[in-house]
Amino acid sequence: MPWSGHDGHRASPSLYLKVAVPLVVGVAGVTLGIIGLGAAYKDRMVHDLALERAQGLSALTRSSIARVMRTGHRAELQLVLEEVGRDRDITAVRILSPDGMVARSARVEEVGQRLPLVSTRTITREVAGELHPAGNQAPVVLHTLEPIPNGPACRSCHRSGDVIGLLDLDVSLAGPMRSADEWWNWSLMLAAGQALLVILLSATVLGLVVVRPIRRLRAAMEQVRGGDFSAHLAPMGNREMDELAGGFNMMVGHRREAAEAEANAHRRDMERAERLATFGQMAASLAHEIRNPLTGVGAALGLFVRSGQLTDPQRSMLMQSLAELNRVERVLQDLLDYARPRMPTRTAVDLSDLIEGTAPLLHAQAVEVGAELKLSVDGGLPPVSADPVMLRQVVVNLALNAMQAVTAASRRVVAISTARSDNHVVCRVRDSGTGVPAERADKIFSAFFTTKARGTGLGLAISQRLIELHGGRLWLENPGEPGASFAFALPIAVGSESATDRHSR
Ligand code: ADP
Repeated sequence: MPWSGHDGHRASPSLYLKVAVPLVVGVAGVTLGIIGLGAAYKDRMVHDLALERAQGLSALTRSSIARVMRTGHRAELQLVLEEVGRDRDITAVRILSPDGMVARSARVEEVGQRLPLVSTRTITREVAGELHPAGNQAPVVLHTLEPIPNGPACRSCHRSGDVIGLLDLDVSLAGPMRSADEWWNWSLMLAAGQALLVILLSATVLGLVVVRPIRRLRAAMEQVRGGDFSAHLAPMGNREMDELAGGFNMMVGHRREAAEAEANAHRRDMERAERLATFGQMAASLAHEIRNPLTGVGAALGLFVRSGQLTDPQRSMLMQSLAELNRVERVLQDLLDYARPRMPTRTAVDLSDLIEGTAPLLHAQAVEVGAELKLSVDGGLPPVSADPVMLRQVVVNLALNAMQAVTAASRRVVAISTARSDNHVVCRVRDSGTGVPAERADKIFSAFFTTKARGTGLGLAISQRLIELHGGRLWLENPGEPGASFAFALPIAVGSESATDRHSR
């Protein structure tokens, strides 16, 4: 099954979808907001432009009117209005009397008509401007109505009132509105184009910066899942993804090293097993070949020693030879034990009892090297399922090593203790010797490693193998410290727990 990135849960939506939806909603929202603001601004802009224009024209017309009135050429007034009314966007230019009667107009036919005065058509000094449709289909018109004040120059003819009349100027908004609509359409297209561009660019950037590197990462993970630890991710072009790639490469690197170490260890184990098998066969046949004649030689030497026909020097020489023969036989036995260990014959063994059983032998040995042997065993230990002969061999090996280690020390103490630790029973053999240097801690368990002139280097290797045969562990507790402390732990025999619990209560 291809790697799916989820554990049977419903598949999460694609990253594109997760980013695209908020992006489209966001961009659309911002665009609509801008469009709304633009729409409001557009109408205001048209109104303001037209008003500005109307004000300009109104001011121009009023100054022309004032000039004509001052010169007294009243007939020219009509010409001024017609001139102004010729402008394409001006729909009407009139002078109204204060009560709304058309006094003058660019269109002569309007003169004498009364126009309804809407709210803005009041006499005020401010320019009033309002939009109103001039007829059903007619374009929108900005209507301005401005008072013509009764200035000092006018008083000779217009004796009373502050206002002579009203200048009514109507400006069509059709032109400005057309331009504004055109501008507006372009703006809309631009906004839509921009929104589309933002979405497309974001999708492309997302694809290049995030989705593509993730796909590469996924492909590399598939490779690793298939057991190919050569997978490597090149830099992806941005810091976060590079960190991710770096982390992945480091993880795969560790996994590769672990796999290589595992493969190497397996290969070494295989080679060791092969070597041991060959070595075992050789050792077994050699041991047979050597032991048989040795037994014969030993028996003959024994006869000589016991015959009583030897001089003292001869006798001591033969005794020495017998001792050497025993040693050779022991070495041969060690070799055989290491090369072809027999399977353990298990019974329920109380480790404390077993150690107490070896005490006489160990005491004799301790006396020989002038060491003090301290036994401190736990009498209530649960039994272990073990071969007692093998366990005894381990205890004796460790104790003899300890005694040899203290011979050069001023204080010669060897302490053997037992205790329970979780589901195991533990035996410790400590001494007051120089200890094992840290750099030598691993080597001492290798077969044939010895620092002793007459050592075989097999004691610890055999002991470790025997303990492992029982599912236990043997180790040096304090490498690099004075006074070595070797320990081995064995699992408590299955089914003995309840008895132990009763005992401990
Ligand atoms: P051997 O005793 O024949 O040398 P072992 O396998 O029993 O073989 O021991 C290997 C080496 O471990 C010893 O030569 C010694 O250097 C070291 N060693 C073992 N026991 C002790 C100890 N109690 N204190 C210091 N060194 C020890």
